[in-house]
Amino acid sequence: MIYKTHHVAALIGAELWLIHTHQPVLTWQTAVALLGAYFAGPAADVDQPQSYVGQRIWPLAIALSGLGIRHRTLTHSLLFLAGLWGVLQLLPLSDMIRWAIWIGYASHPLIDLFNEEGVELLWPLRIRVRLLPRFLSIPVESFAETLLRGVMTLCSFWLLTLYLHPVVTKLPLLRPITDGIIQLMPSAIQTFINK
Ligand SMILES: [Zn+2]
Repeated sequence: MIYKTHHVAALIGAELWLIHTHQPVLTWQTAVALLGAYFAGPAADVDQPQSYVGQRIWPLAIALSGLGIRHRTLTHSLLFLAGLWGVLQLLPLSDMIRWAIWIGYASHPLIDLFNEEGVELLWPLRIRVRLLPRFLSIPVESFAETLLRGVMTLCSFWLLTLYLHPVVTKLPLLRPITDGIIQLMPSAIQTFINK
């Protein structure tokens, strides 16, 4: 998937996390958490020098390429996710920000599982994992990916509305709008976020 799709997927993951854990709205920590997740989302593609991230963090991209790290292997693996969690523990971050960044990063290999090439989740084992049969998979930069990104963007706005709801309830003009949006949400998601 391209970086834009990963940005949106990471935001959805972080929003679900903030709502689920009832984080206070409109604090600098929540802003950092959302931004951290947003930028962590596409980061795994630094293993591809011609990718959006690879072109921007080119010294690391070239180093990984020079080390023979193939696309969708090390940086997309469960092993890396575990290592990243360990590194995040060493940084002076709150638990909320740490989780949001990690979830944002972890959303990347998850979304890539919908692509026909799949991901070497168990790297260094050379086993490509994908979630969908080839004929249903979502090719990179295809119409299906654009559609998926559109739906996810709507979901992201939906969740943001829900997250901001405690503030918006104090604004009488906006409340009926956000109440209506929340009513449209599937009950399974409502149960999850109200836990
Ligand atoms: Zn990727």
